[in-house]
Amino acid sequence: MNILVINCGSSSLKFQLIDAATEKLIAKGLCERIGIDGSQISYTPAGGQKETTVTPMKDHTDAIRLVLEALTGEKTGVVKDLKEIGAVGHRIVHGGERFAASTVITDEVIEAITECNDLAPLHNPANLIGIDACRKLMPGTPMVAVFDTAFHQTMPKEAYLYGIPYEYYEKYKIRRYGFHGTSHSYVSHRAAEILQKDYKELKLIVCHLGNGASVSAVKNGKCVDTSMGLTPLEGLIMGTRSGDIDPAIIEFLCNKENKSVSEILNELNKKSGVLGLSGGFSSDFRDLEDAYEKGEEFAIRTMDAFAYRVAKYVGAYVAAMNGVDAVCFTAGLGENSGFIRKKICAYLGYLGVSLDPELNARRGEDLVITTKDSRTKVLMIPTNEELAIARETFALVK
Ligand code: ADP
Repeated sequence: MNILVINCGSSSLKFQLIDAATEKLIAKGLCERIGIDGSQISYTPAGGQKETTVTPMKDHTDAIRLVLEALTGEKTGVVKDLKEIGAVGHRIVHGGERFAASTVITDEVIEAITECNDLAPLHNPANLIGIDACRKLMPGTPMVAVFDTAFHQTMPKEAYLYGIPYEYYEKYKIRRYGFHGTSHSYVSHRAAEILQKDYKELKLIVCHLGNGASVSAVKNGKCVDTSMGLTPLEGLIMGTRSGDIDPAIIEFLCNKENKSVSEILNELNKKSGVLGLSGGFSSDFRDLEDAYEKGEEFAIRTMDAFAYRVAKYVGAYVAAMNGVDAVCFTAGLGENSGFIRKKICAYLGYLGVSLDPELNARRGEDLVITTKDSRTKVLMIPTNEELAIARETFALVK
């Protein structure tokens, strides 16, 4: 069965068509600037050339219509007609406490996702628009919602409660949820396979280090803690997000800079992290690595602070799980940057980590990168959130 995976943002839409039986990618692409001037679709059939077409898309229904045309078109098509798309898997950012697993989309499910909109006002409404557009254009095709938060729903209370009046949890469900769950789940399962160990008997720490970044602790097959919170702003220093800060900074800055709370929050989301720390130089870790190698002070302080924060979370999760069998690196930076892996692992002497420099220099493959005698293993594992969504979807509709 072919599964269409949709990741719908407010003005963009990423898609992949995956054959669930072989797990092979059939085609992928991206619609950008939906509802804005200059919208365009790029489309790449597996093994073929990427083609980008500038074409108007007034809304997400237009975008999905173009995606389906590309997938079935005479010239570009990879399937004969829409009947060859057996199901659609939708990435949904926030499932609140309602969804601890993926689920087949029904009217009630849509209602429940809508109830989580308050928790992710930028993401969930866009995800819902994607579902609505697909249901219009592919009536009768089963659809599945796969939540970024679901994997973390196993966290115990002591990990997910904030130290604020309990009534705010009761009234508004203010608590830590965590994100990137599909990636943390995929990578931790893959780690057990690579290590040839039972997933339920391992203590794993997964460092998902991309533009957005988070760490999770997975003990005996269950997530027991993760670094993102009510929103993706908490935790690590990220590309443009601040991660953990003293909340009093917000009022302090509002007063000093004469800005509103939402202006400061916008800065914490979009102008902070490594972009902010480097004095506005770049949010791209490749640029920062180059500048670091050249000895630029702004890059040194930024990368040092980034790596230190990751190492601090790893240490916290070793304590939370009373040990760790393996630390896994994934996502853009985690999969590709031997530089950052080495910097983080330099803090892990107490775990008996001994990195193999040659293995650590490799990138983008499933690999144990520690020496044979390393007491704790370190792995790099390329994440594949789309494949994980396709698997979840297939499992629910087959
Ligand atoms: P997201 O999905 O959150 O946008 P990604 O997982 O694609 O992010 O990661 C993007 C980040 O990964 C960028 O900051 C980029 O610089 C970094 N990255 C990608 N390739 C490399 C590389 N070879 N070396 C260092 N960093 C890299």
